[in-house]
Formats: sequence, C-alpha cells, structure tokens
Amino acid sequence: MNRPARDALAHPGPILLVPGSVLLPEGPVDGWAVVVDDGRFAAVGPADELARSHPHLDAVPMPGHLLMPGFVDAHHHLTQSFGAALAFGEPSEIFRRVWVPLEGALDEESAYTAAKLAALEALRGGFTTVADAGTRADVDVDVVASAARDAGIRCVLGLVCNDADGPDGQDGTADPAVLESAEKHLARWTGDALVHPSLAVSIPEAATEPTLRATARMAAEAGAVVQIHVNEHLAGVERSLVRHGLRPLEHLHRVGALGPQLLAAHATLLTPRELTLLADTGTAVSYNPVASAWKGNAVAPATAMAERGVRFGTGTDGTRGDGFRLADAAEFAQRLAYGLATGDSSCGAGWTWLERGTHGGADAVGLGAVTGTVERGKAADFLLVDVDTPELALSWDLPWELVRRGNRDQITAVFVAGSLRMWQGRPTGWDGAALVERAAGLARAAVAGAGVTRVHPTSTAARALDRGRKGSARR
Ligand SMILES: [Zn+2]
Repeated sequence: MNRPARDALAHPGPILLVPGSVLLPEGPVDGWAVVVDDGRFAAVGPADELARSHPHLDAVPMPGHLLMPGFVDAHHHLTQSFGAALAFGEPSEIFRRVWVPLEGALDEESAYTAAKLAALEALRGGFTTVADAGTRADVDVDVVASAARDAGIRCVLGLVCNDADGPDGQDGTADPAVLESAEKHLARWTGDALVHPSLAVSIPEAATEPTLRATARMAAEAGAVVQIHVNEHLAGVERSLVRHGLRPLEHLHRVGALGPQLLAAHATLLTPRELTLLADTGTAVSYNPVASAWKGNAVAPATAMAERGVRFGTGTDGTRGDGFRLADAAEFAQRLAYGLATGDSSCGAGWTWLERGTHGGADAVGLGAVTGTVERGKAADFLLVDVDTPELALSWDLPWELVRRGNRDQITAVFVAGSLRMWQGRPTGWDGAALVERAAGLARAAVAGAGVTRVHPTSTAARALDRGRKGSARR
C-alpha cells in the first residue's frame, strides 16, 4: 500500500472504506465496506449499498486487506515496560522482586515514557484498547493517561486502592483517603475520548475487606471495573487458605466483591467450584496465556470457561504486544494444558480466540458497548490486515489462519476512535523512534537504581555456566 492510501486514510473524515473483506462477529464477509465518522462506525454494510447511500464520499479502496476489530489487551501494566525481559527465567511472584522495585524507581518522566513505550508496542501489535491494572509508581495516574492519549490508544486506567499495608492488615477499617481518591478517579475522566476509569487492588490481601466491598460497589455504580490479580500463583492461594481458610476467589466471594464489575486477572488455579462462582456471579476474567508460560504455575481453563459461560478476554500482562501471537498463545496453551490430555484437537475452533481477543476482551474490561466489534455505532477501533501475503493468501479458513499464522507484520493500519494511529508499524503524527531512544536511556537508569532481585542469570551467563559445568565434568 502506498502513500496516497495512507493520506486518504488519515483524512479527518467522514471516510468510506472499502477493504477486501470485513470481519463481523459471525465471520468474514467479502464486498463489504464501512463509513467512519466522528470516531465511530456510522455505517457497516455491502459496499455497493454504502456507496449509493453516501454519494458525497469518495471510496478509499483497500484491496487485499481484512478490516477487523482491534485487539483488546484485558490485562497490562503500562509502567512496567522497561523490564519485560527481567522476568525471563524467574520463578513466580516476580512482582515482589522485580515489578514493585522497578515501578518504585520511576519518576514522572520515566513513568510517562514507560507507559507511552508500552502503548506504542501495543498499537504496533494491533491492540486498540489496553486495560492498565494500576501503576505502583509514585505519580499521578494522569501521567499514564497522558501517555495513552498521546500515543492514541484507548485505555482502561486502573487506580490502585490498596489499603491493607498498615498494622491492622485486612481486618482493619477502610482508609477513607483511598476511597475518596477512588471516587474522584471514577468521576475524573468523564467525556475523555480514550480514557476510561477503573479501580484496582493488586491482590485480594492488599486491601481491607471494607475497601474490597466499597470498591466493588463504587465501580458497579459507575459502570467501571475493579481489577484484581486472583488465583495466579500457588503461594498466593496457600497464603489465603492459611489466613482465611478460603482460596482468594472464595474469599472475594465471601466479602461480596465478585460480580460483573470484577475483572479477575489470571484466575489460573481454579477449582470446579470456583468456575461455578465465576459463571454464577458474572465475574469477568483476563486469561493471560503468555504470562502463564513465562512466570506462572498453571494455565487458566479458558476452553472450559467459554463452555461454562464465564465472561473473559485475553491479556498480555505486559509480556509482549502482538495481538495475533496472543491469540495463538491462547489456543496453544489450551491445547498443551488440556486438549492433548483429552484428545480435544480443536480447543475452541480458532474463532474462540479471535473473539476473546476482541469483543470478549471489550466486555471483560467494561467496554462491551463501546468497542470490540465492527458494528454501526461502535467506536471505530479497527485494523487493516494485509491478507495478500504468502501466509494468508491461499485462504481456506481465515479466522483460524489469523490465529495460527497471523502476526503484527501483516497489520498495515491501526485506527482508534476513527483516527489513523499507526501506519506500517510506525505511529502517525509523532516520533516513535525518538520515544524508543529516550526509553532506552531512562530504562537503564531506572533498573540500575531499582534494587531489582533476579534469581535467574541472563541467557548468555546461563550458557557460560552450562559450558563451565560440562567442561569440568569432562576433566
Ligand atoms: Zn498483572
């Protein structure tokens, strides 16, 4: 695709866009088009019909391209982007040794830069929405909001409401200052085109029981979500059992914090009873398969969750920002963890993972009415994917091919709220390369000053150790 196409797509609109095909919830259709106006899909339908009903618009043809909904990353930590590879080889609960110290070392400039770097990677990978689970950097969350807005990505912005750090712990009374700032945060972003407020508690034991209850109520009233890491690691499940006689999810249920407003991150270690609790209460989950592989103890039973009617999307947890590779990982992890053992060679039949990566995610993060499908009235958050490639052109089953063979190289354009934000992997209207250079410098300083504790050596050091060991064994 050449420059004229880019310029036509960057037009403030309205525009009539005619791709080769459009991915609807029911599947891909050829010969359809969309009208984008004022940030939304003003019309979606057969191209000839839209051309007739919009005679004043010049059609922008995008042959060989699929127009599909942008991916929704249902679980991210935007201000952790300086250290993705610090987690490699590490045992679970790295938040204690890596993330908390790293975020603690960020100032306003480095937190902004880290968040914008994460947003850039996400947009390049086809994510048009990210749910940020709340920064623990000592900065106003407006720093993260500004980074997302400046990068041009839709952001569900978590505010951390932990209040159980004091001597009374979880049994204490709620910290009124925490609830007051939660109330303000929920009202602060009204009318913002890209920022949607959310509350967050790092893990159930990080907040007092009254605060777990109050945040659930406040979020439900505001139509927002509360993000909590739940049942991710064995150590966390066992701590909860020792303390409450209940697993984390059961504890949240007893407190009254389950419900459609809860976005439970991970939920990998689930008993059959907890699956029932999720389904019965309408609680949403972010299934994070790459996080399981990199630092987890288990893989969430996502195929079973889909069957049982549990609401869920997929999340990166900041591991890597490629929507197609995430969909692939979502399927792959189900195959290895569950499908091989039961002879389920389908594990969701492809479409499940595209759907969970788009409108399942939008629903889970509380934006089901806003984004996640190519549909009249929804925000125009979408991708133009080049399907005229060796990987995808000989198509027999496009949705499944996108899951197994797609990746971000095939994304020609990314739109958020009707505006072209990314063209062939580069941001429009701002300098991505300069941001990356700045981030590289700030990341060195932040990690050096953070007091991060790693258990595992780097790859190169591990190789040297390995060779040393084998050498001495031979001697
Ligand atoms: Zn997380």
